[in-house]
Amino acid sequence: MPTHSSREILADLVAFDTTTRNSNLDLIAYIEAYLAQFGIPSRRIPNEEGDKASLWVTIGPEGDGGIILNGHTDCVPVDGQHWTTSPFTLTERDGRLYGRGSCDMKGFLACVLAAVPKMLAAPLARPIHFAFSHDEEIGCQGVRGMLAEIARDGPKAEACIVGEPTSMQTVVGHKGGRSYRCGLDGLSVHSSLAPHGVNAIEYAAALITFIRSVADTLALSAQDADFDLPHSTISVGLIEGGTAINIVPDKCSFVFEFRNLIEVDQEEIYQAILSHAIDTLLPRMRAVHPEADIRFEPIYAYPAHAITPDHPFVTRIKALLGRNSHSKVAYGAEAGLFLSELGLPTVLCGPGAIAMAHRPDEYVELSQLDTCDVFLEKVIERQRQGASFFR
Ligand SMILES: [Zn+2]
Repeated sequence: MPTHSSREILADLVAFDTTTRNSNLDLIAYIEAYLAQFGIPSRRIPNEEGDKASLWVTIGPEGDGGIILNGHTDCVPVDGQHWTTSPFTLTERDGRLYGRGSCDMKGFLACVLAAVPKMLAAPLARPIHFAFSHDEEIGCQGVRGMLAEIARDGPKAEACIVGEPTSMQTVVGHKGGRSYRCGLDGLSVHSSLAPHGVNAIEYAAALITFIRSVADTLALSAQDADFDLPHSTISVGLIEGGTAINIVPDKCSFVFEFRNLIEVDQEEIYQAILSHAIDTLLPRMRAVHPEADIRFEPIYAYPAHAITPDHPFVTRIKALLGRNSHSKVAYGAEAGLFLSELGLPTVLCGPGAIAMAHRPDEYVELSQLDTCDVFLEKVIERQRQGASFFR
């Protein structure tokens, strides 16, 4: 059987432009073909449109007690970024491998695939599953179909490792997130008659000011020192409206997102904002113009993740890594969904520094791939022995 290093496989994976807006099916077909040469079947879970798919793979015996290795196949756009290397050609410089997705998170996928011959040679007493998703970068949307299938008829795994770039450190939690587009319909009049109109921009500004006050309250409420930024946050990211200086604008829309600690209820944050819009601002708008409206359209939502740092699974992962520290991260990831949909103890651990993700000249250090290769060997050894990760 031909064997490939994680670095060789990473070069192949980076060459597929799996920016989230594109299909990932060519990359999925590559992984299927790679596994097929070892006689390993894979299960595609297509999206509704049929232009993308997640992939579920089991190596070792069927049955419960497996460990899931999770990663997403999509990456963020290179649009508007200045790259000094070609983003879809893996380029080595000074011990670093440059390319879009090299760090976030094709490096982990490459290490997992490179470890397949070792998994087969072990052989495994307990299964190792791959759960490769799509559409992660737009709010963890793609993994949900796969999780629903696994929850319905899949094996009961013991735990999950999400290979997001953590510099191969144990990460025990991430914030949750939601985002919305808010559209305001007012009434357009000549600006000299401003009181006869409903100024959509001004009402949007009032609502944004309120959102900011909610953010200020959150900054003083629940705290978690394991995060660099220890509280929940809200941010308005984009606004548009209006046509001319002398026209009262009838349209304004803006988008906002919030990132919550697991102990802060996402729905409560949303309801506070919604009720200010609907109960306080909208009646004032409608007093002038009964057809005025404020609408909220959800863009994405994903749950926060947390596993207690003294959970035996965390202790085992730390032991395999030979490092006793842990942290939490503010970026979104699929770990919260493995927890909420499958109830699985889950940690994040993968090669590459998160600071490199989404950046021009994104890279992963070769030494990080080496560290991940060694870590996966230990995971394989655990499953060869058939020993629980909880002991
Ligand atoms: Zn990622």
